[in-house]
Amino acid sequence: MGEVLPAITDVRDEELARWLAERGQPPYRLKQIRHSVARSVASDWSGLTDLPIALRSALASAFRWSSVEVEREVASADGETRKALLRLHDGHHIESVLMPHHGARNSVCLSTQAGCPMACAFCATGEMGWIRDLSVGEIVDQVRHWQRELRNDGGGRGQSPLRKASDRVSHVVYMGMGEPLRNYGPVMASVRMLTDPALFAISPRRITISTCGIVPKMDALAAEGLPVNLAVSLHAADDRTRAAIMPVNRKWGVTEVLDASARYVERTKRRLTFEYVLLAGVNDSPAEADLLGKRIASGGRQGMYHVNLIPVNPIQGRVDAGPGGFERPSPERMERFARALEAHGVAATVRISKGQDIAAGCGQLKVKEGRASEAEGRADGH
Ligand code: SF4
Repeated sequence: MGEVLPAITDVRDEELARWLAERGQPPYRLKQIRHSVARSVASDWSGLTDLPIALRSALASAFRWSSVEVEREVASADGETRKALLRLHDGHHIESVLMPHHGARNSVCLSTQAGCPMACAFCATGEMGWIRDLSVGEIVDQVRHWQRELRNDGGGRGQSPLRKASDRVSHVVYMGMGEPLRNYGPVMASVRMLTDPALFAISPRRITISTCGIVPKMDALAAEGLPVNLAVSLHAADDRTRAAIMPVNRKWGVTEVLDASARYVERTKRRLTFEYVLLAGVNDSPAEADLLGKRIASGGRQGMYHVNLIPVNPIQGRVDAGPGGFERPSPERMERFARALEAHGVAATVRISKGQDIAAGCGQLKVKEGRASEAEGRADGH
């Protein structure tokens, strides 16, 4: 295999400045290139027409335009959600999702690792195990991919036009494959790039980082002084249930995670969301809801929290059962769970995830592909 060029989004400013100086380029080119790469919806270097042709061709022979290539893209039947399976330079794959909320916002869901080491029992990505961490460029280039798709309406991929609010990505959630706080440095560097007014100019208030409760990194994030939103995956109110579905609980239990959440709220003065996947017969009982409400409200700051109740996401072909064979509770039971939380003054909403017909839950497209090829393998064998 030939040498792989570095992706431009992975090249540090000092290196790019040196590269430009060696070619006799004026210092202002650095900012110009950074700005154009972040904003351009071109599909390669030739689209940066504000740069001289000779410089464009030198850049093309030194740096890859993007660190991700589209392997496959699928749209949900209602055209609301689009999901991409993206190939990395070493052949691994990640997923990224675009959710245009027409008239209001264009949200994208980013992956931060190929696979995930956290092994949550209900998660398709967790089934894969950890493959590797993503680089800054591999995170940011997911946003560039969607900006291009928004501008081109997914042009050339045979999809119906996007029902989009605008051509820009307005909101970013770090909730795709991987645990963002287990790839802390590149994730923080990507947040800085996405929020830089000279680059992507996305407000930090429109960025949400999700974690399964890596306590020391939650404290580190609180100390960053960045007004980003934090979403903490709780999924149970007692250690026994939580440890059974989230191995991370053996290291940081419910109390530690709730305490770190309180410190985050205290330090940042920002509201925090608890994510709670509802698994029938596992964590959806009225007693569990009551305990959850009590524990969240115990510090007296329940107004700073919101609980997102998410019925477990089915993988296509399994109808009601999510990864791990879990099933969704009935709508009545989910409503009852939400009301029990509200009885403690804790706001809760039941969120039906978008794009279920395209397996938009994290890791599901990748897992589905894997199963499809396994099935094909078996068919070939017959
Ligand atoms: S839910 Fe998140 S943290 Fe848990 S295994 Fe899946 S991707 Fe990893």
